[in-house]
Amino acid sequence: MSTSVGALGSGLGGGVELTVKNLAIEMHRRGHEIQLVAPVGSELLDFLIAQIPGNLQTTAQTQEISDPIAMPADPVLANMWSHARHVQAKYDLIFNIAYDWLPFYLTPWFQTPIAHFISMGSLISALDQEMGKVAIDFPGSIGVCSRTQAATFEFAEHCRILGGAGLDLGVYEYRANPSNALAFLGRISPEKGLEDALAAAKATGLILKIMGKVQDEAYWQRLQSEYAGCFEYCGFLDTAAMQQIVGDCRALLMTPRWVEAFGNVAIEALACGVPVISYARGGPTEIVRDGVTGFLVEPDSVAGLVKAIGRLGEIDRSACRQQAEQEYSLSAWGDQIESWFDSLIVTGEKYIDY
Ligand code: UDP
Repeated sequence: MSTSVGALGSGLGGGVELTVKNLAIEMHRRGHEIQLVAPVGSELLDFLIAQIPGNLQTTAQTQEISDPIAMPADPVLANMWSHARHVQAKYDLIFNIAYDWLPFYLTPWFQTPIAHFISMGSLISALDQEMGKVAIDFPGSIGVCSRTQAATFEFAEHCRILGGAGLDLGVYEYRANPSNALAFLGRISPEKGLEDALAAAKATGLILKIMGKVQDEAYWQRLQSEYAGCFEYCGFLDTAAMQQIVGDCRALLMTPRWVEAFGNVAIEALACGVPVISYARGGPTEIVRDGVTGFLVEPDSVAGLVKAIGRLGEIDRSACRQQAEQEYSLSAWGDQIESWFDSLIVTGEKYIDY
């Protein structure tokens, strides 16, 4: 069950699109039969996708903590879960990656066990509450990306830490000799703090190569006029094209304003041999080895970013690639996910009795 905020392949789903893609590839390679369920217009290699019509959900990161749960008319989210209800008997397990209230609320009514992968930290109280109930009533069914993400929830100790994604390292080329540019990868939306990466580029006189989906047009317009001449916008690229540009950069800048649950972009950059300079906030603190594969700097400090850029000569790019190979391979991640799934299928009886 994919995200309900955008079609797979659109970029609107952010990191979960890579998570879904790599999970599907790896589970298929292991011989599992997979049915993807996603909004109309979704594409993922040659996987079969149940294309579900309906209106998209609003992204949770644009909402306030006290907001009520909202759904549009003819919601794609509800339509996806109606589909799941009809076909559930054919499957051993349902994997849910949507950061939405409805799948958690519906969990007790499903006979097939549901593995919920939560891709962001706490954002909306009403959703936290529903997730918390599932965490207690369906032990082991909640997976998250990182410890710092889990810590944003009251049910932290009930979460299984799984990382954000594993990578097919063959897709990412190691580049020993980069140009002088810096990279920024991700959705162009205020919580990603692009203005700080631009300010650091401006201060150092290096060009920031920006890749990603524009999610907040007004925000992007403002940054474009404020930082004209400091950046090159390359568009939203597929992984193959994106890794080529990232690999040619001296570092990836990650400047999140929120608790980044993981940061798939961090491990993708490392796979190209690119050090990661990130605010010491959220998932990147569990990925970047400070001083070895990048730098963790004081959150919201552009001066800290500038200082770290000045120290990039201390980083051995091969150590970055090596970390990706050792810690973020698709097969190692697949082992973790498969054993999580196995644990839920074994205890599946509990769901039927609920
Ligand atoms: N991405 C991409 N093309 C681009 C820029 C970004 O495919 O031009 C992908 C990138 O590979 C990563 C995702 O966008 O998988 C961003 O994920 P991340 O976990 O860093 O952040 P999120 O958007 O989930 O908050």
